Amino acid sequence: MPDAYRLFIDGQWASSSDGATFPALNPFNQEVWAEIPQATDTDVKSAIAAARRAYEKTWRHTNGLERATLLHRLAGLLEENADRMSLLETTDNGKIIRETRSQMFFAARVCRFFAGYADKIWGNVIPLDQPQMFDFAMREPYGVIAIITAWNSPISLLANKLPAALAAGNCVVIKPSEHASATTLEFCKLVEKAGFPAGVVNVVTGDGKVGRALVDDSGVDKISFTGSPGVGREIAATAGRNLRPVTLELGGKSPNIIFADADIDKAVVGALAGIFAATGQTCIAGSRLLVQRPIYKQIIERLAERAQKIVLGDPRNTATEMGTAANEPQFRRILDYIDVARKDGARLVTGGEPARGGELSKGLFIKPTIFADVDNGMRVAREEIFGPVLSVIPFDEEAEAVEIGNDTAYGLACGVWTQNLSRAMRMIRAMQSGLVWVNTYRMVTAQAPFGGVKDSGFGRERGEQGLLEFTVSKNVMIDFSDETRDPFAVKA
Ligand code: NAD
Repeated sequence: MPDAYRLFIDGQWASSSDGATFPALNPFNQEVWAEIPQATDTDVKSAIAAARRAYEKTWRHTNGLERATLLHRLAGLLEENADRMSLLETTDNGKIIRETRSQMFFAARVCRFFAGYADKIWGNVIPLDQPQMFDFAMREPYGVIAIITAWNSPISLLANKLPAALAAGNCVVIKPSEHASATTLEFCKLVEKAGFPAGVVNVVTGDGKVGRALVDDSGVDKISFTGSPGVGREIAATAGRNLRPVTLELGGKSPNIIFADADIDKAVVGALAGIFAATGQTCIAGSRLLVQRPIYKQIIERLAERAQKIVLGDPRNTATEMGTAANEPQFRRILDYIDVARKDGARLVTGGEPARGGELSKGLFIKPTIFADVDNGMRVAREEIFGPVLSVIPFDEEAEAVEIGNDTAYGLACGVWTQNLSRAMRMIRAMQSGLVWVNTYRMVTAQAPFGGVKDSGFGRERGEQGLLEFTVSKNVMIDFSDETRDPFAVKA
């Protein structure tokens, strides 16, 4: 019997108002392992109303220390439950257990980071020209935040938003992806156990219709979205119509650039991790590898040699190095892109097909795939695949690397591998990207801000900027003189 999950609204666990559910499939064996409620518009409205009540009655009146205490408790519960939670996430989206487990600890770390901020949300005293006036700008919560996330790392993506939103004093309604909803609901069991008041955190599950209803409700004060640029555009349009602020964390087609003067061993590991970690199903995948010609052949050989040894297998096994595509539509999409790359004339170096045999037979496995001699105009280099498919592009000069690297609709991440500090500094300035890694790749922390430019979205998560995204400025001006000022008096 699959596990039956419930919606979490106003501190209560409930079926959807019409009882509808949908199955959660394990991509390793294609079995239904859980039933998830498909929320109705009524459920969405109830969740928003619950968040509003909690905000007005309790949460906005808590002090920072109270919010911090609950966030620390939540972090502790996540750590205690990391094994169980990671196993569930691995079951739900096929990501290997080593990654899901470390993501649980990362999520706890982010909770603690924002717990530390909860009683330090300071404003500014602003000196005015008028000496009898005192001005300060304070930061307040928005109220009710809609959080919508993708399937590739449900808890990690949630942790980029929820602790900051709560620390700042907001209440939230979360809509996880229909392809991986279970751990967000499990997370709410920890929210409940930590002692957050009813209604502060709510979850409605279901497909895009549920997200649409949430985004289009006037009871929502701000939207924070992680997902594809297509849906991001639709959400931004709705938010524009309703005049609501929105943070968008969207896709990427990030250049990972290796210069001939790089530490080659380090760069090869960084290039492999950049594309094959998380089966390439990560927004920051270094899916375009730009390699300077003198080392081009050598790099491709070394990448291919290691890629062929990547251990595919049961994602629950700690020895497994790469898991499955997370769901059937994504599996098909990746294979379609491989076909397109072949037809467009990219040279297949390794992979390029599903991995079968033994325990892989029932799973959505795709071999780590490398295409060489890719032209940046090919679709495989222009469109986000979100899978283990690397496009290797040669270049001669630094200026050419900049031009190719920036010739993309996206602007999320960029890697630069060089031992020349002046070159590194020039590249940092030249790249149109929210993140630049020098001699490392895919490194994320609680403290540093994360987010993109261009089609990769706007707004930042984590770090101090991640907190400020969930606050709004209120300016206060006080006239402390005894003078009555006639507004019609003309100054000489
Ligand atoms: P998606 O855009 O299809 O779905 C994301 C979420 O939006 C899901 O919960 C979905 O149900 C919901 N949704 C769908 N239509 C909606 C609508 N009209 N209104 C409101 N909500 C709607 O994306 P996905 O396939 O789940 O995730 C993959 C994408 O996410 C990739 O583009 C990837 O790069 C991106 N991503 C970005 C980051 C980041 O931090 N920048 C992180 C992870 C994933």
